[in-house]
Amino acid sequence: EQPLLQVEQLTKYFTAKSGPFWRKNQVKAVQDVSFSIHEGETYGLVGESGSGKSTTGRTLLRLTEPTSGRACFQNQDIFTLRGREIQALRREMQMIFQDPLSSLDPNKRVGYSIAEPLAIHGQGSRHERHERVLELLSRVGLAARHADRFPHEFSGGQRQRIGIAKALALQPKLMICDEPVSALDVSIQSQILNLLIELQAEYGLSYLFVSHDLSVVRHIADRIGVMYLGHLVEQAPTDELFARPLHPYTQFLLSAIPAPHPKLKRERILLQGDIPSPANPPSGCVFYTRCPYVMDVCKQIKPAAMELSQEHSVQCHLYHDELRAETILN
Ligand code: SF4
Ligand code: MG
Repeated sequence: EQPLLQVEQLTKYFTAKSGPFWRKNQVKAVQDVSFSIHEGETYGLVGESGSGKSTTGRTLLRLTEPTSGRACFQNQDIFTLRGREIQALRREMQMIFQDPLSSLDPNKRVGYSIAEPLAIHGQGSRHERHERVLELLSRVGLAARHADRFPHEFSGGQRQRIGIAKALALQPKLMICDEPVSALDVSIQSQILNLLIELQAEYGLSYLFVSHDLSVVRHIADRIGVMYLGHLVEQAPTDELFARPLHPYTQFLLSAIPAPHPKLKRERILLQGDIPSPANPPSGCVFYTRCPYVMDVCKQIKPAAMELSQEHSVQCHLYHDELRAETILN
C-alpha cells in the first residue's frame, strides 16, 4: 500500500551569520532524512531542540524551502508545487503549533479565526461557515458560546483546542503537530493528546508529531524517528523502539525518562559534552563526539542507515559488524 506521505533524502541548509566577524555559516539543519507516513498513522519525530525536526515539518508545508530531496504526498511531489497548488496542498495538510496564539489573531473573536481558512478557500456561505464553527468547537470539547470570545479569554489548553478546531476546518488528511502540548501542564497534555487520538479515529487523520519529549511521543505515535543534529539516526515502531533501542543516542534518551515500573528501570546513561553546533557538525558519525561506544571508523565515515529488522533501521557503525551487533542485541 502506497504511503500517504513519502519523504526521501530531505536536506535543508540555512545560511546564518554569526561569530565575531558576523561570518556567514552554513547550518545543516536537516540532512538526508527519509521516512513515510501511512493513512491513519502517527509518526513521531523526537530530538533535542535544534535537531531539525521542526524544520522537517515546515519544509513539508512549504513554509521553508528544502535544499534537496523529495516528498510525495497523495501522489504529488510537494517540492515542485507552485502558487495555487501550494494553497491546495495546505487544505490537505495543516499545522498545529506549540503556541496556538501564533495562528489566532488576538483582536479577532475565535469564531472568526476558526472560520478564516473556510473563507480563504471560499467554502460555504457565511451562515454555513458559522454553523461549521459551532460544530468544530463542539468537536474539540468547547461550548458554542466561546465563538464570540477573544483568544486571551482562554486557558492554554482551551487555546490549543481552538487551534485544533481551526486546523480541522478544511478537513485535512495530514496534520503536522509541532510540540503541540509542550507548553501545557501535564494533566492538560494528556487531555489534548487524547483529543488528537479521538479525532484521528473519527476522521482517519494522519499525524506527523514533532516533540522533544519521548514520553509524550510514546503516548501517541505508532512509529518513531529519532533525530540528532539533522540526521534521522534511528526509526522503529514505538514498542520496538522502547523494547530494543539500538542507536546509542536513543539509548541515552530512553535512559533519561522515568520508567513506568521500577523493574523496568534503565540505568541512566550520561553523555560527555554538549550537542555540537549544526554550523559545524562532526565529520563521520554526527554523534561521535558524545558517544560512549565511539570507534576510529566513526570519526571518518558517516554510517549508512541499516535495516536490522522489518521497519527498524539505525545509522550506527556498531551494527555494520555482524558479530558485534549480535553481542549488543543479546
Ligand atoms: Fe557511536 Fe560510532 Fe555508532 Fe556513531 S557510529 S553512534 S559514534 S558507535
Ligand atoms: Mg522546534
